[in-house]
Amino acid sequence: MQRIVVTGAAGQIGTELTRALRERYGADAVLATDIRQPEALDSGPFQAVDCLRPGSVLDVLRRHRADTLFHLPALLSARSAHDPWRAWELNVGGLRLALEAVREAGAAIFVPSSIGAFGPSTPKDPTPQDTVQRPTSMYGITKVAGELLCDFYADRYGVDARGLRYPGLVSHTAPAGGGTTDWAVEIFHAAVRDGAYTCFLEPDTRLDLMYMPDATRAAIELMEADASRLAHRNAFNITAVSVTPAEMAREIRRHLPRFTIDYAVDRDVRQPIAESWPDRLDDSAAREEWGWRPAYDLAAMVADMLHHLGIGSTEAPRPTETTR
Ligand code: NAD
Repeated sequence: MQRIVVTGAAGQIGTELTRALRERYGADAVLATDIRQPEALDSGPFQAVDCLRPGSVLDVLRRHRADTLFHLPALLSARSAHDPWRAWELNVGGLRLALEAVREAGAAIFVPSSIGAFGPSTPKDPTPQDTVQRPTSMYGITKVAGELLCDFYADRYGVDARGLRYPGLVSHTAPAGGGTTDWAVEIFHAAVRDGAYTCFLEPDTRLDLMYMPDATRAAIELMEADASRLAHRNAFNITAVSVTPAEMAREIRRHLPRFTIDYAVDRDVRQPIAESWPDRLDDSAAREEWGWRPAYDLAAMVADMLHHLGIGSTEAPRPTETTR
């Protein structure tokens, strides 16, 4: 991996992944693209690219002489529930065009899948790497289709297509993009701003989460991994923290003792989606095949988030090696 294009670079993951890639490979080697101008990304080149316009991704890969594409555009779970056919068009149609582009350019591709690729009939704790995938949300349907499309392009055309099933991601730079785990980002901003948060999930809804520095490092480590060690190659389960809103609130209260949480549960969309998702992923395949290991557990993630939002000590807390 030497010359890289990121599509969807202005989003929650793209903003921090582009920055991490530039730190490692150099600013000019990493071209950020999106349909909108990034708000928090001025560290290197940017080009407006609509991945749904046929030929646009191939064109940008060739012009940048890229060997790797990180393809991030998607409608997240709550937005997919409101606009299912737009989700299908972007999450599956856009991915198909990206896979065609890397096939023609001879580039590798990274594609994020999600805990949303599982459904109510999947074992919840732990959720194995290879198991039942019958999601009930349109987001999940597009994510399973995307995993299978990546496998198809790898098997049929030899495309080096790799990917991760991300849990909900927590970050302080870009806002969350309309998913079922947005509460895990909003709660920090509300805690610092208002001292209180109204959560749209039930207090005991358990889901996997991960702090963004772990998520971006995982993407880079997977793309750098020796291909001969990757028995799965695509759609690896990864996780760092399995937590409920009530437990997160308790951890935040260790830093902000007056913080309060109450609940206005979104029973139409996000609570049913959350209930259909795993409680805890089994990420042993990722650990064994390419050495995955999260650095941030719940305490370290909360301390670092609050530090970046201006609470606590002026020194950044150190990540802890989790034991899971
Ligand atoms: P996001 O919504 O924050 O960002 C997506 C970006 O794609 C936006 O900047 C948007 O402008 C861009 N985009 C939309 N349509 C486009 C088009 N036609 N052409 C080019 N760009 C377009 O999403 P995110 O949270 O950064 O997620 C990125 C990927 O990671 C998605 O595939 C998502 O399913 C997956 N994922 C995210 C999470 C999470 O918690 N954020 C968890 C699991 C998986």
